[in-house]
Amino acid sequence: MTLSSNIQRELVFLVAWVLFMLALGAIFGLALPALFLAMVLYILWHMHNLNRLLLWLSKPTNNTPESMGVWDEAFFKLHNQYIRHRTSRKKLTKMLKRFQRSTKAMPFATIVLNSNNEIEWFNPASKLLFGLRSRLDIGQRIDNLIRQPEFIKYLSNKDFTKSVEFENQQKKISLSIIKYGNGQYLLSASDITQRTKLDEMRRNFISNASHELRTPLTVISGYVEILQDTADQTNKFSIDKIHQQTVRMEKIISELIELAKLETSVGFDKHIDLDMSKLLTEVFNEAVSLDQNKHTLLLDIKDLQITGIYEEIRTAISNLLTNAIRYTPEGGEITLSTSTDESGAYIHVKDNGIGISYEHIARLTERFYRVDEGRSREKGGTGLGLAIVKQILDLHNATLLIESLPGKGSQFSCFFPVVEH
Ligand code: ADP
Repeated sequence: MTLSSNIQRELVFLVAWVLFMLALGAIFGLALPALFLAMVLYILWHMHNLNRLLLWLSKPTNNTPESMGVWDEAFFKLHNQYIRHRTSRKKLTKMLKRFQRSTKAMPFATIVLNSNNEIEWFNPASKLLFGLRSRLDIGQRIDNLIRQPEFIKYLSNKDFTKSVEFENQQKKISLSIIKYGNGQYLLSASDITQRTKLDEMRRNFISNASHELRTPLTVISGYVEILQDTADQTNKFSIDKIHQQTVRMEKIISELIELAKLETSVGFDKHIDLDMSKLLTEVFNEAVSLDQNKHTLLLDIKDLQITGIYEEIRTAISNLLTNAIRYTPEGGEITLSTSTDESGAYIHVKDNGIGISYEHIARLTERFYRVDEGRSREKGGTGLGLAIVKQILDLHNATLLIESLPGKGSQFSCFFPVVEH
């Protein structure tokens, strides 16, 4: 056993004290009573200090008791610990208050749930959004208070990778849950009524404008075709150009209408499997006749289990094949293939064409985004093809994966994750 230097000093003091009292007692011939008195006084001194320590521990203050010897050292160490503890507690309290102030000020509802989905804490925005009541609703199960079927399904599925949207008291709400700590959940929700309305207005505007433009354009296009038939050599060139541009405008308008339709589409019957071999062979044959032998087109498909809307998937794959033809120089190779793994099924459209540099890839599915506007126009592109593909895949819960290297070629893959029926 190692003895601290303070205890060693205390032992030296004790021995000296006992010897002193023994010597004093011996002078008066009372050595034993003097020894007894020395021990009693020594114990009383320790009891006194122990009492001061207990009193201080029951109500610690900045003023720690002062003493001598081993007790002075113990009190000094306690004092230091007390100061350290107080400083870190102050810091923590400050942090906690700051956190609570910020979550209170947050415009979206924040609710802390335990592993049984019972409410542990919520901020004032939750009162406004879900009508939660401060005292009454703490400890209540959240699915007793938010009862929308979409939310109940989201909560019971326990798949919180995406957020859920539903209507509550005439408000459109977007809600997401994050798991954290020891089986706790942080639920955060915001009112997206305004945003949804604006989105709807934007969609309606594009759809209405496209429909309105379509009629006059069809009339113009009709007249231009008549003019083309009767034009003489001097104005044939200009009329042909007008015709080309009207065809382009018609294509842009019909693709805008198609996008607007897809945006408002409400899904499909997830139990009907598509005949993917038929679908892929059809689009492939169409691409072959469009290509007119300018490229080598290869087909390498196995049957896939995909549910969805036949015509839409057909449009998506057709757009990818048209792009591959458009952006691959003559003589290049284009392959339409399929593959599967444990996570789902893939349809790949691969080419060894001009490729796309890295910085453009993330933006390709934006409307009217083109890497090279001149080339896209010249090849009859509208800048909407990939936006349509993305919209169709979103509707089917699928994802577009793009791999490309400039000068080497590109691979566009549609990934359909496995769905449990
Ligand atoms: P576009 O009608 O211009 O082809 P898309 O939306 O279909 O519009 O494609 C957007 C852009 O992505 C294209 O303008 C082109 O720059 C690029 N792109 C698409 N597919 C390919 C491909 N297979 N190879 C190289 N670039 C491509």
